[in-house]
Amino acid sequence: MGGHGVIQRYREFLPVSEDTCIISLNEGNTPLIQSHNLVRALGGGFRLFVKYEGLNPTASFKDRGMTMAVTKAVENGVRAIVCASTGNTSASAAAYASRAGLVCVVLIPEGKISYGKMAQALIHGAKTIEVRGNFDDALDLVRELGTRDDIEIVNSINPFRIQGQKTAAFEVCDELGDAPDMHFLPVGNAGNITSYWTGYNEYRDAGKSTSLPMMMGWQAEGSAPIVKGHVITSPETVATAIRIGNPASWEQAVRASEESSGAIDCVSDDEILDAHRMLARTEGIFVEPASAAGIAGIVKSYARGGIPPESTVVVTVTGHGLKDPGIAIENAKASSVVVEPNIQSVLDAIGME
Ligand SMILES: *Cc1c(COP(=O)(O)O)cnc(C)c1O
Repeated sequence: MGGHGVIQRYREFLPVSEDTCIISLNEGNTPLIQSHNLVRALGGGFRLFVKYEGLNPTASFKDRGMTMAVTKAVENGVRAIVCASTGNTSASAAAYASRAGLVCVVLIPEGKISYGKMAQALIHGAKTIEVRGNFDDALDLVRELGTRDDIEIVNSINPFRIQGQKTAAFEVCDELGDAPDMHFLPVGNAGNITSYWTGYNEYRDAGKSTSLPMMMGWQAEGSAPIVKGHVITSPETVATAIRIGNPASWEQAVRASEESSGAIDCVSDDEILDAHRMLARTEGIFVEPASAAGIAGIVKSYARGGIPPESTVVVTVTGHGLKDPGIAIENAKASSVVVEPNIQSVLDAIGME
């Protein structure tokens, strides 16, 4: 049942035994795409690779952690898993729970999750509960449910999530032959930046790589608790997957940025949306807005001279663009044209003779 997922591939680095029944959907092994056009559009001078995590089974990186969390939940003999979610954790939990034959309960902020993510939770049969509050309110309720013996929490406070997610750093090193100089990514609950830093360190300690990247984490301006240094009670941003006011892995994220001589900074919604469109137009890579925060971070860092010449830079784009088609249609700043069914009308519409 293990298939070719991340646990099977990196089991020597993960808390599993010979007897563990692996619950997998063949997650991981996502493309690392060299992006010449985007670098050229910025002005050149460095090497950029985009780790396209939207190509995981439920279309976000959350699957890497979920295969591990659900595998351990089954090992522990629970009946149900529960999570609070801005959408992608619940989509992933719902799918892996189906695979494992577990009940899945998801608590989401009322009216705040995208259409695609809601569709995923519902089609997989998760008990989907909208809470009149924000993500942080939903997480408080989950913590309370998690005190029961028959329910396992699969939010990023579940330590196995971090373990599974660190495999993305292994894949980057395996493919590049070593760690990059800088690693950019969006930051919400800060589990992913913690995971990458853990993974890069473990790989270097195991002699599989020789260096460590600077970790460059990006929050959205309206929900940037780490940058501002205090909890944000009503976080706001178009990038719903990082609309988090009180990150679960706050301290670990700060440690990752400090130990790596990196940074945690923020970008505005306009910068995020520009990066969202720019990545789609220059490279053909379609992501959800939160995923574009790391791209916006590259644009900002480059403009400040913060990317040394000749560096190798990796950016994780965390979720697929089809998760949120509404925002994509809005942000495309273009629309379709209706014509009569004759060739002249089509040529007129595309501006060709
Ligand atoms: C969960 C998520 C994030 C944020 O990751 P954290 O580990 O919470 O920092 C960013 N983008 C997408 C698409 C996500 O699903």
